[in-house]
Amino acid sequence: MDDQPVDFAVVGAGIAGASAAYELARHGTVKVFEMEATPGHHSTGRSAALYTECDGPDPLRRLAMASRSFLLDPPEGFADSPILRERSVMFLAKAGRGDELEGFYNDRRELVPSILLVDEAAASAQCPVLLADLVAGAVIEPHAMDIDVHTLHQGFLRGLRRRGGTLATRSPVTGLEKLARGWRVTTPGETVDAGIVVNAAGAWCDVVGAMAGARPIGLQPKRRTAFTFPAPPGADHALWPMVVDIGGTFYFRPEGPHLLASPVDETPVEPQDIRHDELDVSLAIERIQQVTTMQIRHVRSAWAGLRSFVADNVPVVGMEADADGFFWLAGQGGYGIMTSPAMSRIAAGLIAEDRLPEDIAAHGIRREELSPARLR
Ligand SMILES: Cc1cc2nc3c(=O)[nH]c(=O)nc-3n(C[C@H](O)[C@H](O)[C@H](O)COP(=O)(O)OP(=O)(O)OC[C@H]3O[C@@H](n4cnc5c(N)ncnc54)[C@H](O)[C@@H]3O)c2cc1C
Repeated sequence: MDDQPVDFAVVGAGIAGASAAYELARHGTVKVFEMEATPGHHSTGRSAALYTECDGPDPLRRLAMASRSFLLDPPEGFADSPILRERSVMFLAKAGRGDELEGFYNDRRELVPSILLVDEAAASAQCPVLLADLVAGAVIEPHAMDIDVHTLHQGFLRGLRRRGGTLATRSPVTGLEKLARGWRVTTPGETVDAGIVVNAAGAWCDVVGAMAGARPIGLQPKRRTAFTFPAPPGADHALWPMVVDIGGTFYFRPEGPHLLASPVDETPVEPQDIRHDELDVSLAIERIQQVTTMQIRHVRSAWAGLRSFVADNVPVVGMEADADGFFWLAGQGGYGIMTSPAMSRIAAGLIAEDRLPEDIAAHGIRREELSPARLR
């Protein structure tokens, strides 16, 4: 059955597609196509929900900073509860890695002057389960935050509906045909003509790009494991920071009555509904037990999600030169939640006005460093 034509067809209703659709709905009619029954089934529903300005390549950190004001103070009616909650991050150096810690601190303090370099005693005062002898010190980011991902994602989807946009679930896009003006989008149940197609298909962005005849951007999905376990009895763990090993071997953080942890794995895989491997969970447990007094005997739940990267680990936000009206919103890696407000506004700005919003450009973000052309 043929449906009404729209100005913008968005493929994927994860945080990228939902936020872009929300912003584009100011400029025209929008329809989002999601192959799963539930938006957020893939990466968006499986994240560690952290906002930090100290992790990832420089452009990503700027995108996070450009997103902060929206996350702290979203528009009236966007969310019923706060999106961000205070949670500092402790970037920890194990004993013998003090030099690396100093480099980490020096690299970040210009962009984030509030960070602090502390010794092992100060680190274990903030997280008393740390074995101070096995720690060289830490960098504390006091103004990092926990993100309520569900509230943010639902805020975008609800806002989209209020602006007249629609979401079709269980609607995998199976074909994209170039028309004289715009695109014909095909799913098993319908065919919709759209002026612009936004490719926000997460790990599947190169698959969707191929449907449009676009050259691949070289997207590589990588598996990342997470699990929860009970916090040690009697610990005031709710006040602990998120603890991240700067050597990239583990992190853990409070998650309600539990702790959430990861071995910080990055296993390259094909796009899929990814499952965790018990070995990765065991590895994280072993690494965490090495530097803390915690004995992790019971895993409450475990899962894995995909973090998808291109070669330079910077997201791809821009129009495809080879396929007019086909727009990439891809490669968010491990930062797609916290950067979604800025990236969606960049997408809408480039699509509707062919320029970056001024307040976002003021953070030193340039369209060329996000453009798919840089990868070719
Ligand atoms: C363990 C883990 C921890 C993380 N921690 C953080 C964190 O602390 N902070 C942070 O900011 N980010 C974090 N991330 C990264 C973040 O989750 C991702 O960057 C973000 O969710 C990507 O969003 P997305 O919308 O691009 O992808 P997805 O959420 O995967 O959405 C893409 C959607 O496209 C749909 N789709 C694909 N192909 C089609 C098609 N042909 N037709 C229709 N629909 C289609 C899929 O079903 C999917 O729903 C983490 C990720 C993981 C796995």
